Amino acid sequence: MFHVKQKGNMINFDIIVAGGGHAGIEAAAAPAKMGCSVALITMEKGAIGRMSCNPAIGGSAKGHLVHEIDSLGGVMGILADKTGIQFRTLNKSKGPAVWAGRCQSDRDLYSRAAVEEMENTPNLTIIEDSVTEIITENNSITGVRTRLGKEYSCRAFIICSGTFLNGIMHTGRNQSTGGRFGEPPATGLTESLLKHGFVSGRLKTGTPPRIKKESIDFDVLEVQPGDENLHPFSLRTGRSKFPFLPQVNCHITYTNEVIHGILAKGFDQSPLFTGIIKGVGPRYCPSIEDKIVRFKDKERHQLFLEPEGLESDLIYLNGFSSSLPAEIQYEALIKLKGLENAVMVRPGYAIEYDFFPPYQIDLTLETKLIKGLYFAGQINGTSGYEEAAAQGFVAGINAALKIQKRPEFVLKRSEAYIGVLIDDLVGKSTEEPYRMFTSRAEYRLILRQDNADRRLLKYGYEFGLIPEEMYKELNGREALINEGKNFFKNTRFKPDQFNKYLSGMNLSLLDNSETIDKLVKRPELSLKELLLQINGDEHPIVKTILDDETALEQLEIETKYEGYIMRQYELIEKMEKLENTLIPLSFDYTNLNTISKEGREKLNRVKPRSIGQAARISGGTPSDISVLLVYLKN
Ligand SMILES: Cc1cc2nc3c(=O)[nH]c(=O)nc-3n(C[C@H](O)[C@H](O)[C@H](O)COP(=O)(O)OP(=O)(O)OC[C@H]3O[C@@H](n4cnc5c(N)ncnc54)[C@H](O)[C@@H]3O)c2cc1C
Repeated sequence: MFHVKQKGNMINFDIIVAGGGHAGIEAAAAPAKMGCSVALITMEKGAIGRMSCNPAIGGSAKGHLVHEIDSLGGVMGILADKTGIQFRTLNKSKGPAVWAGRCQSDRDLYSRAAVEEMENTPNLTIIEDSVTEIITENNSITGVRTRLGKEYSCRAFIICSGTFLNGIMHTGRNQSTGGRFGEPPATGLTESLLKHGFVSGRLKTGTPPRIKKESIDFDVLEVQPGDENLHPFSLRTGRSKFPFLPQVNCHITYTNEVIHGILAKGFDQSPLFTGIIKGVGPRYCPSIEDKIVRFKDKERHQLFLEPEGLESDLIYLNGFSSSLPAEIQYEALIKLKGLENAVMVRPGYAIEYDFFPPYQIDLTLETKLIKGLYFAGQINGTSGYEEAAAQGFVAGINAALKIQKRPEFVLKRSEAYIGVLIDDLVGKSTEEPYRMFTSRAEYRLILRQDNADRRLLKYGYEFGLIPEEMYKELNGREALINEGKNFFKNTRFKPDQFNKYLSGMNLSLLDNSETIDKLVKRPELSLKELLLQINGDEHPIVKTILDDETALEQLEIETKYEGYIMRQYELIEKMEKLENTLIPLSFDYTNLNTISKEGREKLNRVKPRSIGQAARISGGTPSDISVLLVYLKN
């Protein structure tokens, strides 16, 4: 399968990936491991996996994405585990659907681990260059041209250009071209795509100032430690050595009204408010000046001081993203508690870049206009490392499957956050940076991070990215979980089995025999404690469950929340009928006059694959869908 062939003057690869960011890493690694010859063309080898903004992986809903990528056989979880310097599970006080892993990463070590991972991936060639043009024949990709004047041929090309396409950085009225601090923009590629009929747009995002660590008085700040019981992201991370690096604290400080006043002084020089920045910014990750304007009544905003690495002397001021003039940023930040003597090493800045509204891609992330051309990451209008990595993985896998003439890979909304992400992008498109939230997933009780392997490992195994023993172990555990559920439902225990434990907890005692299934649904009771009341010699399954922490957790969650989970499965079943009613991609909606003009335009633009997808397209009404159903039936 491994072909790097010289064709005339051209070197030939199966797949070329442009951009070694978080999307590009997954887009290149997965197909290479599947046996395709892959070239990763990226501007700077040492910048592979560089974190443009916050030195952290995971977080609410993003942690879910990392677990999903990992279960499918991607690398982000492994890199995060290797280089994490603080691990926490967020939202632990809430239900398990929203528990989310997050780690503070050592920025340099993360990037170094990513370079090493790419260097050690078989069938993968790293080329330092910039892709400036696509080459096509009959609306299919055949190769690329680069800044250094090289041509490479390929059967699939995946663009993972991040914030680099015609990037412009802003601090106050100062503007400079660049893909991020210290790196040039990518030019040429947007124009080449426009020539092929693609439509581009402009988005913006921003980053906060970096502060010299020694200049901060940490003693007066609130400490935010990591968890005591640490959980790695990756199933493939050996628990015995984890964590691999010393763990550190983050700190918290707050803005105040004096600071807001200082920042407001700079509004007339803000590229955001003076109209210099045309790109739309992320609503959910606003700059500090945006926050002050939008949340006028808020007296203070919380800021996190996050170390950039074990050896780094920089602190990332999370929550203080800004494109105000540097002197205003400085004047404001030295009014923060603990930062009175702060040295601002680098001011915050905003960046504007080209993206391609994602109605132009299909659910495989292949573009609708050019066969074999895929878009992944920030280019599709998303924001965030995890969102990018998820798309990179899906694009890489689909490019490989297409070349290997195997069925495509599309995850449903009911299977994964990755399915939700891509379905949202393609169906609703986006006009502002899209980031993942748990609220975007309608089946979030099923899409938990703790069961990502149970949902997705089978695919990773099919792709050859997950080792057989891991897959077998999962199947063994699945059998145990089913056996456990039967045992909990069908075995009744006499009251005296549990009454001592219940009275110790000041809870009402049992009068009649009861099943574990019923008891564990009481919010105060834990499955582990209940099982510890049972004689394991009489019921060996109890011992087996207690010895398997993962099975125990799955059983506890799925028994406690059984009612809610069942309701979500019922909903999925109902929707499945719509999802399974397919619409041919060639279907032309233009003359369906009973559908609103806006509805027809959107349907023609997106070309939904199923009635389910058509129903989610924004602008379409329920009556449009009924018309469509009748038409398809006829
Ligand atoms: C200033 C700034 C602030 C940000 N703030 C946030 C934030 O607050 N929250 C958030 O979620 N996200 C933020 N991000 C975005 C986050 O960095 C991206 O979402 C994420 O890195 C996207 O991953 P990616 O793989 O798509 O691209 P990137 O990580 O940007 O990587 C792109 C890579 O592609 C290479 N490249 C680009 N074009 C070409 C080409 N034509 N040929 C060869 N190589 C090419 C570049 O050299 C780079 O290595 C910010 C980014 C920046 C720059």
